[in-house]
Amino acid sequence: MRLTRYFLPVLREVPAEAQITSHKLMLRAGMIKQAVSGIYSWMPLGLKVLQKIERIVVEEQERAGHLPLLMPTIQPASLWQMSGRYDDYGEEMLRIRDRHNRDLLYGPTNEELITEIFSSHVKSYRDLPLTLFHIQWKFRDEMRPRFGVMRGREFLMKDGYNFDIDMDAAIHSYNRHLVSYLKTYERLGLKAIPMRADTGPIGGNYSHEFLVLADTGESEVFFDKRILDFNFGIANVDFDDIDECQKIVDEWTAPYARTDETHDPEIFDRDVPEEFQGVSRAIEVGQIFYFGTKYSEPMGAYVTNSEGKQVPVHMGSHGIGVSRLVGAIIEAFHDDKGIKWPISVAPFKVGIVNTVMGDSESCEISEKIYSELTNANLDPLYDDRDERVGSKFTTMELIGIPWRITVGPRGLKKGIVELTDRHTGESREIPTDNIVTLIKELI
Ligand code: ATP
Ligand code: MG
Repeated sequence: MRLTRYFLPVLREVPAEAQITSHKLMLRAGMIKQAVSGIYSWMPLGLKVLQKIERIVVEEQERAGHLPLLMPTIQPASLWQMSGRYDDYGEEMLRIRDRHNRDLLYGPTNEELITEIFSSHVKSYRDLPLTLFHIQWKFRDEMRPRFGVMRGREFLMKDGYNFDIDMDAAIHSYNRHLVSYLKTYERLGLKAIPMRADTGPIGGNYSHEFLVLADTGESEVFFDKRILDFNFGIANVDFDDIDECQKIVDEWTAPYARTDETHDPEIFDRDVPEEFQGVSRAIEVGQIFYFGTKYSEPMGAYVTNSEGKQVPVHMGSHGIGVSRLVGAIIEAFHDDKGIKWPISVAPFKVGIVNTVMGDSESCEISEKIYSELTNANLDPLYDDRDERVGSKFTTMELIGIPWRITVGPRGLKKGIVELTDRHTGESREIPTDNIVTLIKELI
């Protein structure tokens, strides 16, 4: 992409309404624009990051054997009356009436809708286990929308639902989700710690939240500091291996960390030596639940088991806050100049800064590097504006591009350009002729 052809509405001033770093930086970098409180338009740069996160989430879900579908944002109230949640959900639910006076709602979550889809089509244990997921916008009329996309009213969530024949099978699905979530966060460059949690309005009896430690987080967590050194390097876990998944859940979740709701000082203090007891703020980036037959019984999601008996299916649900993750990643990776994207979600992997637009050789070499990187699918952003070099650097740093190539007459006399790492700030000189090979090695 050439910056002169891009739409990057960066702001010079720090917007007054933004309180936390990620919100400020998302506005300054021209990633989002508020439409109304808690509801945002995603500008091209923001959308690119959102879609990269989405892609990783989908890949990891599919790898775990979960099937994508897409349910609508609008749902009939009747399904929620059947489960009993229409009244329970309260004012967070946006209720709508159509021209025929039918009660509808903008979905805050999808347990009811997916249970209805399941029960209409699946009748036998032979079709189980089944896990379906989608990535779709949700609406929750939050009391205090704030911190930009971190606590929006409209937000993008990956939500998945598992259907199993009994509790044992459903717990395996639960464990498989826990492992696949750890893999997902790891690919996003984040250390998300799984913690036992309360179930809240989703209900049920077993739940974990995934939390990223950050001073600006809304939850308070108690944790064993040693969990920060754990290597969640779990790329090769076999999801079908029930014992292996169970072992990971046992090893990595208890008694290392608790949220404030589930923190039991007696257990934590007994199991964790004092010097390792940590307390921090944290951002919730996901949650998984096992809730048995809470929805299948009232909504009639029964199948015949191997003995020919009708039994309600055991279910769980799992959510990842896709749009919140954009903010959470910025909270984890930034400095006073701006964002520092992990390479896996960077909107552009490489930036090219042409320091003297009037210099024909600089233009020629910049164009050459730009087309080579483009052809190698390395997604470069070429700053071809007629601007001062200082302001070009400022923009690249603000929007967080991991690698910057600086092209200018002085270096070109020696046959070199400069390559700068946004994460370390280090620069090195590289010959103009093997840039693509080198960049490929680095990423
Ligand atoms: P919270 O406790 O932060 O209100 P929740 O527990 O109500 O979240 P879940 O139902 O578990 O949320 O939803 C799954 C994920 O969706 C959460 O872990 C979070 O990352 C994300 N999420 C929830 N509410 C919002 C929101 N208002 N804005 C952005 N993301 C959200
Ligand atoms: Mg939650």
